[in-house]
Amino acid sequence: MKTIYLDNNATTAVRPEVLEKMLPFFCERYGNPSSIHTFGGSVAAEIEEARCRCAELLGAGFRDRDGKASEIIFTSCGTESDNTALHAALKARPGRNKVVTSAVEHPAILHYCEKLNREGVEVVKIPVDERGRLDMEALKRSVDEKTAVVSLMWANNETGTIFPIAEAVKIAHAAGALCHSDAVQAAGKELIDADGIGIDFLSVSGHKLHAPKGVGILFARRGIPFAPLIWGGHQERMRRGGTENVASVIGLGEACRLARLERETARKHIAALRDHLEQEVSSRIPRIRINGDLEHRLCNTSSISFEYIEGESILMLLDMNGICASSGSACTTGSLEPSHVLRAMNVPYTAAHGTIRFSLSAANTLEEIDFTAACLVPAIERLRQISPYWREGK
Ligand code: PLP
Repeated sequence: MKTIYLDNNATTAVRPEVLEKMLPFFCERYGNPSSIHTFGGSVAAEIEEARCRCAELLGAGFRDRDGKASEIIFTSCGTESDNTALHAALKARPGRNKVVTSAVEHPAILHYCEKLNREGVEVVKIPVDERGRLDMEALKRSVDEKTAVVSLMWANNETGTIFPIAEAVKIAHAAGALCHSDAVQAAGKELIDADGIGIDFLSVSGHKLHAPKGVGILFARRGIPFAPLIWGGHQERMRRGGTENVASVIGLGEACRLARLERETARKHIAALRDHLEQEVSSRIPRIRINGDLEHRLCNTSSISFEYIEGESILMLLDMNGICASSGSACTTGSLEPSHVLRAMNVPYTAAHGTIRFSLSAANTLEEIDFTAACLVPAIERLRQISPYWREGK
């Protein structure tokens, strides 16, 4: 059975071009970039090349005297980048003890904020409306002279909703606070202009943009004192200890280069497929809702609620046809709770439970989308026939 992969916000395939770039760094050029000898030292030069490609994708134009894009720090993942950004921002603003974030961030931010809160840091979570849009008035009211950092995701991983980050930077800076954005889902899909908007920190994850798992980027603007989260050797200019994940870093550089080159063409193709899926589903299946800010959304993400049925059952029926997607629930204490994102958006329980996230990539085809819609129609009908809620609720 053919796999139809519509779960690209969970992870993406490593592109063949990326893998090809990586391969020599396993068995041939395996030197340690910190070594003095040419065998290792020449690897360091490749890492610097990759760093420049990453900086270009993020619109970070600064190069130091050696031509290095030193605002880019390689990490192990998006989660590490998020944790480090908050840690570093709080240290860079001593005397300020408040983090302003949103109710719909990824756990890489929210759980770190819970830890900070237990340690005495004030954490304010800005609410969103029913479309997942940030309450900008609440943001303005909450950011003050106690705020060390405003941390808001560029785009939401469940609904694709895009936050107005440029505006958030202005609000943060006006109060003397720093601004971080978790751009894990946006990088490669949205135009990111770190210099243009003057953001202080950005997080990116390799495996969401066709590079391997286990590598990430933290953009940290020059001039802001930096406090590492991981201490060790002199790697990454003492900002992140540990021998570099060389092959993955090289792969990430190539993935960033390709994403930048192909972004516009890919976006058009992906958005057309996403719109076609939503069109097919809305015209053939009653009682559905599409979640998120439909005007400001990632091109690849579609969060669809099918009322009165369980998302997990839908996923199982899709899986039987080789179709991979995600549900909008999290298994907590044995019961399936709608995700914190859907709850923050006040999506009614009857709809939130039956929410599926489809997330596409440039590799998807119209045939795959048509096949998915064709599988969904009978699957939803079947599940609703056996759903007491559907009979009651209709
Ligand atoms: N932030 C967002 C918005 C994400 O979607 C994810 C992963 O799903 C992460 C952070 C964490 O990234 P990683 O898996 O690289 O730790």
